Amino acid sequence: MFYTAQSLQAFSRQVLLALNCDEHEADVVSQHLILANLTGHDSHGIGMLPMYADQVRDGNLIPNQTPVYHEPVGAISIVDAKKGFGHRMALLALDHAMKTIDQHKVAVLGLRNSGHVSRVGTYSEYCASKGYVSIHMVNVVGHPPLVAPHGAREPGFSTNPISMAMPVNDEAKPLLDMATSTVAFGKVRVASNKGESLPLGLVIDKEGVPTADPKPMAESREGALCAFGDHKGSGLGVFVELLAGALASESTVATEKHIPAGVYNNMFSVILDPEAFDSKEQVMQRTMEFYDFIKAKPTAKGVDQILMPGEPEKISKAKREMHGIPVDDETLRQIYESLKHFDSDEEALKAELVAME
Ligand code: NAD
Repeated sequence: MFYTAQSLQAFSRQVLLALNCDEHEADVVSQHLILANLTGHDSHGIGMLPMYADQVRDGNLIPNQTPVYHEPVGAISIVDAKKGFGHRMALLALDHAMKTIDQHKVAVLGLRNSGHVSRVGTYSEYCASKGYVSIHMVNVVGHPPLVAPHGAREPGFSTNPISMAMPVNDEAKPLLDMATSTVAFGKVRVASNKGESLPLGLVIDKEGVPTADPKPMAESREGALCAFGDHKGSGLGVFVELLAGALASESTVATEKHIPAGVYNNMFSVILDPEAFDSKEQVMQRTMEFYDFIKAKPTAKGVDQILMPGEPEKISKAKREMHGIPVDDETLRQIYESLKHFDSDEEALKAELVAME
């Protein structure tokens, strides 16, 4: 079924209010989730709500949290999110860190103990909207690792995403936003919910053999995701863990006890003012010169057009704004099920959903 973005946002907002988020937090988180759906990342859209509900129920995710801001050391800021909703905590932490930019032309952030920050590209977009270049690296703790290091048959770290963007007219362009695994775990969950199989090369089974079946991984964490690009992606995953976990926060997957409590993120961000290098306009002009240079390359056989990082998301957004966002019944069922522990009216929630014609 395809639903309008507006109705899905109103629906998610109601779910978040039922989880005791205040109006502002429910707005921030629901906007984040719907943008993830619109940009084609259903793995980080409303399908995350059941996990958030379970975490809130168990006291592992705290609605309306006030982060602890450490005094910046030079251009380096540390913010402890104290298990608050990551979508809001990360924006607050970036605002705090960016206060050093006027003086230093750079801000470095270590965000610790955050609830799931979801689609990391959101934070590159936020920094670009203020005219800044940014790089964000996120490690994932709170549950057993998911990604097999190169050559291993067992997971050793998680999907450890990286996002970076240039600001072009305060828009993130290009915008790279990727897990260092071949796919985000949520995509395995979505495929499993839809009863679809996966292309080979994304997941290995518990013997370390490539498999197309997402269910054992999605339902009982059996097997592992593969890092992208063999040893190179695996090496990048290692460094995301070290920068976001060992350096910027207090826990890597090796520190954690792996109690399945949900998903927590630590984020290491570097935010740069392009004006420190050259005029903003010159940097933007060279960025677009290169962008257009790549776009003008002849396409490989069988390829319609060359896409720059961030373009597939823009295409998806335009399409889904027009035709709606697909949500499968299993995802909705999981959301209603997770709300059984809260004061929530399933029929009223269903009434928020508007299907596309
Ligand atoms: P993906 O593989 O769909 O896309 C990765 C990048 O490649 C994007 O920048 C995209 O624009 C680009 N791209 C895709 N197709 C392209 C093409 N044909 N030509 C050129 N560029 C192309 O993304 P993913 O790795 O599955 O990650 C999905 C989302 O999951 C991201 O938003 C990420 O931040 C999020 N994530 C979050 C966490 C967390 O714990 N918070 C963990 C892992 C992933």
